[in-house]
Amino acid sequence: MAEKRDYYDILGVAKGVSPEELKKAYRKLAIQYHPDKNPGDKKSEEKFKELSEAYEVLSDPKKKQMYDQFGHQAANMGGGGGQGPFGGAGGFGGSADFGDIFGDIFGDLFGGGGGRGGRSRGGRRARAGNDLETQVDITFEEAHQGVEKVITINKRVDCETCHGSGAKPGTSPETCKTCQGRGEMTFQQGFFAVSRPCTNCHGTGQIIASPCGTCKGAGKQKKTSQLSVTIPAGIDTGQRLKLSNEGEAGEQGGPPGDLYIVINVLEHDFFRRDGAEVICDVPITFVQAALGAEIDVPTIDGKVQMKIPAGTQSHKVFRLKGKGLAHLGRGGRGDQHVRVMVEVPVKLNPEQTEALRKFDELAKQDGKAHPLHHGFFERVKRIFD
Ligand SMILES: [Zn+2]
Ligand SMILES: [Zn+2]
Repeated sequence: MAEKRDYYDILGVAKGVSPEELKKAYRKLAIQYHPDKNPGDKKSEEKFKELSEAYEVLSDPKKKQMYDQFGHQAANMGGGGGQGPFGGAGGFGGSADFGDIFGDIFGDLFGGGGGRGGRSRGGRRARAGNDLETQVDITFEEAHQGVEKVITINKRVDCETCHGSGAKPGTSPETCKTCQGRGEMTFQQGFFAVSRPCTNCHGTGQIIASPCGTCKGAGKQKKTSQLSVTIPAGIDTGQRLKLSNEGEAGEQGGPPGDLYIVINVLEHDFFRRDGAEVICDVPITFVQAALGAEIDVPTIDGKVQMKIPAGTQSHKVFRLKGKGLAHLGRGGRGDQHVRVMVEVPVKLNPEQTEALRKFDELAKQDGKAHPLHHGFFERVKRIFD
């Protein structure tokens, strides 16, 4: 691009110009050089673009301040995807940049990878490759200990024959003559510049005269690759691991996308989890609950003995300290919570039935074996009888 003229010179105003004076100066010159008044006149068109760009900057207090401080350099500063605060090299009214302004505002909403693309030198769109996502199933134990998994992914990568250019080795893509490599065509409609993808090159800005035989000019090929993934201890279902640059290849020199590994921890026979806490229900007999017992309880480290005191009620939770899962990303472990579930006996034979009747007779004598039950019906009697 030719040496840029000073914005104040373009509009013929001094640095301390008031917004009203600036507007007046711009309007006068814009009417003079407007493309509708000078159809087919390239010089006027250039002049009009220049005016519009200068006015866009100087009429915006923030951009004006940047310009006053840094001059045209300011256009190259800030902005995520290589876009300056002035909306790109073309500026307002220049070709193509309406698309960019909309892109900057709406890009995130449409999941376009949030301005990671940027614009390559030829004016073509450098786009980041697509992100990929794949699910990996791991066992409860693997989630606790961490594990190395080899995963297979299918992705589009740069063609090995042409290295992504799409052109036969020894040849190279040519700049599209219709759009001069910009990949889009701009139409001036009154004050607005409207741009559309170039129909000749389909927005790539290039024409491939002799396509690569391997990829038929696409520049990409499908590839199955294997990848070793280290899954950290303590990971849980739904958590994602990001492998940067392991997604699909980018377009026009853009960076590759990322690969996301979504973790699915398979269900366990005994255990549930809440973060690093393990929850385990253990059925015990009503005799064990009444008399107390030592029972074997499964933990992720194997069996441990746990003492149940006499008179334990159903659903009581006992804590086994440090027997839970590894904390993700820090040391230590959670606890295991053992919930005992008292099982009421079923399918009794006559002898067992007899024994329980006998027990019931004895228990009724003073009510001390079942204080809640006894107390409740004593109160009922007092109120209703
Ligand atoms: Zn190729
Ligand atoms: Zn084109």
